[in-house]
Amino acid sequence: MAYVSRTLQNLRESFPAQTEFYQAVEEVLETLQPLLDQNPRYEEQNILQRIIEPERQITFRVTWVDDNNTIQVNRGYRVQFNSALGPYKGGLRFHPTVNASIIKFLGFEQIFKNALTGLAIGGGKGGSNFDPHGRSTMEIMRFCQSFMTELRRHVGPTTDVPAGDIGVGTREIAYMFGQYKRLTKRFEGVLTGKGLLWGGSAGREAATGHGCVYFAENMLQDRGESLEGKDCLVSGAGNVALHTVEKLYALGAKPITVSDSRGTLYHTEGVDLPLVRALKSQPNGSLEGYLDDHADAEYTPIDAYPDDGHAVWRYPGYAAFPSATQNELTRADAEALVENGCQCIAEGANMPCEAEAVHFLQETDIAYGPGKAANAGGVAVSQLEMAQNARMQAWSREKVDERLQGIMQEIYQRASDTAEEFGVPGNLVVGGNIAGFRRVADAMIEQGAV
Ligand code: NDP
Repeated sequence: MAYVSRTLQNLRESFPAQTEFYQAVEEVLETLQPLLDQNPRYEEQNILQRIIEPERQITFRVTWVDDNNTIQVNRGYRVQFNSALGPYKGGLRFHPTVNASIIKFLGFEQIFKNALTGLAIGGGKGGSNFDPHGRSTMEIMRFCQSFMTELRRHVGPTTDVPAGDIGVGTREIAYMFGQYKRLTKRFEGVLTGKGLLWGGSAGREAATGHGCVYFAENMLQDRGESLEGKDCLVSGAGNVALHTVEKLYALGAKPITVSDSRGTLYHTEGVDLPLVRALKSQPNGSLEGYLDDHADAEYTPIDAYPDDGHAVWRYPGYAAFPSATQNELTRADAEALVENGCQCIAEGANMPCEAEAVHFLQETDIAYGPGKAANAGGVAVSQLEMAQNARMQAWSREKVDERLQGIMQEIYQRASDTAEEFGVPGNLVVGGNIAGFRRVADAMIEQGAV
């Protein structure tokens, strides 16, 4: 049996319940055959088996006391997946759906994303099944402190440097940083996404969303097109989504949707960003309240769309930016987008398209930027934050933005050139996977069987 199918079959048999992890591995491995054919040493060195096995996985109990003095228990995770290129780097997600499969899929994707940036960072991911929705600030602080009390044994500025992800923003990073400092007596760059007063980088919070829009512009420029004046669809209403909306406006485009776990908002005039920010900054804030100020907008509750798909992708738009969560865009959604004239999809979220949607999109001539490439701006600026911390410097927002634009262009070029090299011009899934994989695999081979 061929090396790729053998590896996938082993994986499926070993972890039958880890469906998201399997999906992420299959999506990478099925694109690598041309590279493996050209270069037998990857099989000789058994790189596929090695690369799908995390170097280390930590699972731990997180106990904390809620506002009613009840003891709560959650599960904490950190998967240190691959350190061939540098210290483990990747975010922490706090969401009730978090489990070993989700963290492993995210950690696996992170390896190749980080490699694609060209920077010296390995891949990791972590988080907890803690649900921040409806929790008070004090509860969130106590949870973060308890989480870091265990995590601090496993992280460090040259070992493993976590950042944020779903449910983890500057506030949560701050509480974890405070606890790390208290336990270790060390003020150091152990986390990224820090506040500007205590070692954070200008532009980090906005980097994933802004970077994703820069990536889309790079894809379009190659086709003689641009986002200016175009209607755009954005899903999500968190960090990545709202910074995507912000940059789209800055470049003269018109974002006409946002969404959250409860519903989708559509406004043909363009979404009112300050209002969405205000609604989402309230505890349990709903997008439905938007209609009080804009009666011409439309709100679709999530359960009012039982069809195979999601309301947000059924509106006509020139470009789509899935920026909420994994598997939020089905094949039926992808077909609807193409039918409605969508020319470009840039993934702000990690693995937002189901496998069938990815296969379908690759058959069309849509400009499709997979998450490993399109949303790498966040981790790239995290690495710039690490560099500033190490040199005890703080760069200006302009300098960081300039670096971000340069990095996104390089990522696009790397993925695009590699697609060309392997005979599939424009296929950034194949180009991105092979370019990222090759860098990591070559470093692993040079470092021996470890
Ligand atoms: P946030 O927590 O800030 O926002 C997440 C948004 O997505 C919220 O609006 C949330 O809704 C919505 N959402 C979450 N889960 C679901 C679901 N199951 N169905 C519908 N909507 C959902 O997270 P981020 O913006 O940081 O992350 C969004 C995506 O971007 C994730 O895939 C993440 O892995 C990826 N990413 C993030 C990076 C970063 O720098 N933060 C870097 C690279 C990728 P609600 O408000 O109702 O909770």
